[in-house]
Amino acid sequence: MIKLPLISDRPLAKAGLSSERVLMPNKGPGVFEDEIDGIEDALGITTVEKAVAWAQANSLWPDTFGLACCAIEMMSIVSSRYDISRFGMERFSSSPRQADLLIVSGRVTHKMSKPLRQVYDQMLEPKWVIAMGACASSGGMFNNYTVLQGVDKIVPVDVHVPGCPPRPEALMEGIVRLHEKIKAGIPPAYQIRGVAQ
Ligand code: SF4
Repeated sequence: MIKLPLISDRPLAKAGLSSERVLMPNKGPGVFEDEIDGIEDALGITTVEKAVAWAQANSLWPDTFGLACCAIEMMSIVSSRYDISRFGMERFSSSPRQADLLIVSGRVTHKMSKPLRQVYDQMLEPKWVIAMGACASSGGMFNNYTVLQGVDKIVPVDVHVPGCPPRPEALMEGIVRLHEKIKAGIPPAYQIRGVAQ
């Protein structure tokens, strides 16, 4: 039987209690859990894990992998209109060793899949992946022999952003969702599903 990772960082989970809400994180916290969280906020206390997760979520450095039309939408999130620097992410890197978020935007051909995987492998852990748009997520309309039918066949994807192309707002939404996952203590996708060999 596969043991699922603990994906809740709520105090009850930390205390080792397996209440229904801890097992069903989408159900929302109970009154008691809210009160405990309220005490933490009021007293300004936290744990090392939460502090590290907060720092990681707010200082993601993206490595761009723009391959087609979606890349134009991705580039625009650094503009003043969208201003990704609000999240400490203005440093778009073309160097995988100084990046921890790979944004794959556009269709990936089989020919490009090897360089993409090489870039991913060169990134230091922990690292995350966003598949931006229909093509990166599933091959989109290009159901043919040249295009990879989803980038998750070669790298583990944390967030899929739907659309053709997704607007910059949609990418921002995907990034905010990723921040929430990191702050909630959910491990990166490669730790849950592994990396394809
Ligand atoms: S999803 Fe649409 S906009 Fe994005 S790369 Fe594919 S065809 Fe272009």
